[in-house]
Amino acid sequence: MPFESEQVTAQAAAEHRVTTSERGSFSSARCACGWRGPARRARSKAREDALHHHSR
Ligand SMILES: [Zn+2]
Repeated sequence: MPFESEQVTAQAAAEHRVTTSERGSFSSARCACGWRGPARRARSKAREDALHHHSR
């Protein structure tokens, strides 16, 4: 059923709410699931880290 898999995807996205926090010149991403990314010089890199942890 295609509708079921769509719902699962939407739910997973809701659980993985990523925010970025900045400390000095470093940014790190954090997710609502408890995951925390390493400090990065670029915020775009921090967001990239966050995207990768989702696909696991
Ligand atoms: Zn997550």
